[in-house]
Amino acid sequence: MTASSSPAPRIDYFALGGTIASIRGDEVGAVPTLTAQDIVDSVDGLTDVADVHAHQFQLTPSPEITIADLIRLRDAIAASVAEGSVGAVITQGTDTIEETAFILDLLRPGTTPIVVSGAMRNPSLPGTDGPANLLSAVQVAASPQAVGTGVTVCLNDEIHAARFVTKSHTSSASTFVSPSLGPIGWVSEGRPVVALRPAGQHHIDLAPGTVIPPVALIRMGLGDDGRILGTLADLGYRGVVIEAFGGGHLPVAALPAVAELAAAMPVVLASRTGAGEVLSHTYRFRGSEIELLNMGLIRAGALDGLKARLLLTLCLAAGQDDDTTAKTFASVGTTTGPTRM
Ligand code: GLU
Repeated sequence: MTASSSPAPRIDYFALGGTIASIRGDEVGAVPTLTAQDIVDSVDGLTDVADVHAHQFQLTPSPEITIADLIRLRDAIAASVAEGSVGAVITQGTDTIEETAFILDLLRPGTTPIVVSGAMRNPSLPGTDGPANLLSAVQVAASPQAVGTGVTVCLNDEIHAARFVTKSHTSSASTFVSPSLGPIGWVSEGRPVVALRPAGQHHIDLAPGTVIPPVALIRMGLGDDGRILGTLADLGYRGVVIEAFGGGHLPVAALPAVAELAAAMPVVLASRTGAGEVLSHTYRFRGSEIELLNMGLIRAGALDGLKARLLLTLCLAAGQDDDTTAKTFASVGTTTGPTRM
């Protein structure tokens, strides 16, 4: 930095573990080990981009992250913003990034950039992608272009909107894709470009200590009569997302179990295809989307099953009644909600 240049912006970095922090010890297999500061120190040029404040938030594989952790993380980010931070970067295991980023996108109250990243190749492997991903994520978080985009996911020099991103491959460095629209931006030669801005961002406020109700996600397959649906109430589930065929269709044999379930708790109709909207008025055969929606199922819109499950969980946790929950799904699922820019 020269004497005349402005000071590097403050970025707060929250490390949660995952592959980017995982190294091999004496035994085969990497485990989360490296600290936030270890990871920062491994990235050449990072301090030229930002004044990075590193926080060891937790050090776990990503399936261990809970919604309570994410409420705590939201509040830690808010505290850093109150101290002058202009953006937050989170690294964690990639296995659940599509879920944690979406939850944070719903929970966060402001427009400060929050960028989630990680690595597919751990630091013990040749060609580890963690340092490049962290550098890009910090570049995005420090960019005014990222203000108001909602939470983004940045790996492999691509920027994805939390609402649409999904992990598509078990091991490829290009695993993160947004099947319905593609990335909203990219990083080229260290310069972030946000080419598209997601419309209709939505906020659900949850206080620390909020009870998180269990919601089941059931994917239906050919010949399934849905008998598992009849067990869910007794297991204590408070809501269910059904990943149905195509545009939202189920076998006739499953309809009695679906009707009984919908009378007992909110049931969301999602598609197992992974992209596109659940239909609303295209088919009228038995088990079609028209029949299922007439039975009271809530349409997931363009949200996939994983994200629909999380949205229903947050709606229930926030105490929303069925009508409000349906409105929330219409808003988030079809991107027509109030915009916070
Ligand atoms: N595949 C994961 C990762 O990329 C490791 C497991 C996890 O999600 O923590 O970090």
